[in-house]
Amino acid sequence: MMKMETSVSLTPSTNPDTLHRTTDVAIVGGGPAGLMLAIELGCRGVACVVLEEDVGAPDFPKANATSARTMEHYRRRGFAHEVRQLGLAADHPQDVVYCTTLSGRELTRFSIPSRQQTIDRSAFGDYGEELWPTPELPHRVQQMLIEPLLREQTARYPSIDLMCGWRAQSVAIGADEVNIVAHGVNAAGDKTDAQLLLRAKYVIGCDGPRSLVRKTCGIQYSGQSEEERDFFGGQMLSLYFKSRTLYKVLGKQKAWMYWAMNAVQRGLMISIDGAEKFMFALQLKPGQTPETVDYRAALFAAVGAEFDFELMAKAPWQAGFTLVADQFAKGRAFIAGDAAHLFTPTGGMGYNTSVDDAVNLGWKLAAVIKGWADETLLDSYQAERKPIAERNTAFARSRADSVGLIGLPANLDEDSPAGAAARQALGAALHDHVRSEFNIPGLQLGLRYEGSPIVAVEAGAPHADEPTVYIPSARPGARAPHIWLDGQSIYDLFGLDYTLLCFTGATPAGVQAWQAAAEAMDVPLSVLRFGSRHSEELQSLYAANCVLIRPDHHVAWRGDAGTDPEPLLAMVCARARQVA
Ligand SMILES: Cc1cc2nc3c(=O)[nH]c(=O)nc-3n(C[C@H](O)[C@H](O)[C@H](O)COP(=O)(O)OP(=O)(O)OC[C@H]3O[C@@H](n4cnc5c(N)ncnc54)[C@H](O)[C@@H]3O)c2cc1C
Repeated sequence: MMKMETSVSLTPSTNPDTLHRTTDVAIVGGGPAGLMLAIELGCRGVACVVLEEDVGAPDFPKANATSARTMEHYRRRGFAHEVRQLGLAADHPQDVVYCTTLSGRELTRFSIPSRQQTIDRSAFGDYGEELWPTPELPHRVQQMLIEPLLREQTARYPSIDLMCGWRAQSVAIGADEVNIVAHGVNAAGDKTDAQLLLRAKYVIGCDGPRSLVRKTCGIQYSGQSEEERDFFGGQMLSLYFKSRTLYKVLGKQKAWMYWAMNAVQRGLMISIDGAEKFMFALQLKPGQTPETVDYRAALFAAVGAEFDFELMAKAPWQAGFTLVADQFAKGRAFIAGDAAHLFTPTGGMGYNTSVDDAVNLGWKLAAVIKGWADETLLDSYQAERKPIAERNTAFARSRADSVGLIGLPANLDEDSPAGAAARQALGAALHDHVRSEFNIPGLQLGLRYEGSPIVAVEAGAPHADEPTVYIPSARPGARAPHIWLDGQSIYDLFGLDYTLLCFTGATPAGVQAWQAAAEAMDVPLSVLRFGSRHSEELQSLYAANCVLIRPDHHVAWRGDAGTDPEPLLAMVCARARQVA
């Protein structure tokens, strides 16, 4: 890992309100990335302090969809079930529907199973079970409902100190430590006299798009900014409102996401609680500003009717970004989540990519701090996650183009053969689009870290990386394929850190050699031996008799149990160079 030469010393403070803290990992920002990172460290007993400027959890809607992969991560940490309880009522459809106006004609509908159907695995809507081999199908729930749960989860681990109401104001990154100065912030967002001097081994910027940590490191974003589209390309305004009558006004089978597709007013509406809370996003037209736009008129035009509603809050934001940071680390500083990449929301990948960053970085930091991996292990964070950020942002951009540039004829709502033909043509185009944006098991489950310095090299080419197609594969770098074993996901059997899967083809002597090597090298390794009842199926799915699974459930290596384990264990802990 690159060392920075700056030497840093803290000036002793004379302020009586100054707190001094020392920790292993300082996390700036307690959004999804920062909280999940803390949880990954906390479950391994690693000390960390999370500085979050907001006293309370967010009270405005942001991300709306939790991917299957993120749900799998929540399952790894034992709280997917609690996340699944949040959001729409158990029987509320989670469909995506496109209409001329929201109370008008339906153009196409993508059917997504309700929460209860997902839990029972009784229906799969347009997903198809065989397309999504996961114990955790995607879930529709607002980020503002998940964040309080993530905050609660941090309380399970004594090594996590979640400090809400503290804003980091400067970060000094030295060769051996980092020093952060933070000040208190009250519930109204005002600065208080309280000051914190925090010393840590590492600092992680999970501090969103305006990241202090990224800027301190001098790291730039690269990519496309402020791309223009008819929708999702420009100044957006989100409204968070309550209405007890809206479902009646809509007059159609309930859905989770509603799109108004007409030439007068486009708009996107999300059901937050399936009862009375909604989020509506519109794109401002040239000359409009968030302060002056007649948002009531825009909402009524998109719905196609007037109705009673109570505005709870509104927030302007910008769509049209496809940005990835040039570096994800500099010396003892790392960035994760929106600090490292910015998306346009199509495909719902911003928050999910952020959680996946945190999981990737969390176990590596823990391994280095606990001493069973070399510090160079941390170099694999950028090597693995930057290509994924580029892959996922490119997907979001392509889907934003797909829906945002679609032409909307003026006669769409006309009661005429020409109007009917226009609706049919648009419905068919949207039918193709919605599948490409929401039926994406390949994007969510097919991510892999091929070419990473801590993943074994295997001959041959991997299959194509297709967003809509997931082909289970245990090729090193891939997410370990899920399989149900007597009603239990194989994931539930994996250990906290490395896990060795041994099927009947693995000789006892070979397995013993792995255990002995792991013990001698101090690498935490759980060994899972499968008897003849499951081995045939597993050996065929994993295409080997022995498989090394990483703490984040990606495959590190597969092969014959008789392979010398020492160079492989050294490689996965970054203690040696890549082995073939
Ligand atoms: C209106 C809107 C709609 C969105 N819709 C979607 C969607 O549909 N799907 C999707 O996937 N994504 C969506 N996103 C993006 C998604 O919300 C983000 O990708 C996600 O929140 C990133 O998580 P994060 O933890 O990296 O950053 P954030 O959630 O931004 O968290 C950063 C945290 O750091 C704190 N912070 C910042 N600076 C400091 C400091 N100096 N000191 C202390 N604390 C600090 C902030 O208060 C914040 O809590 C949307 C975003 C917005 C704004």
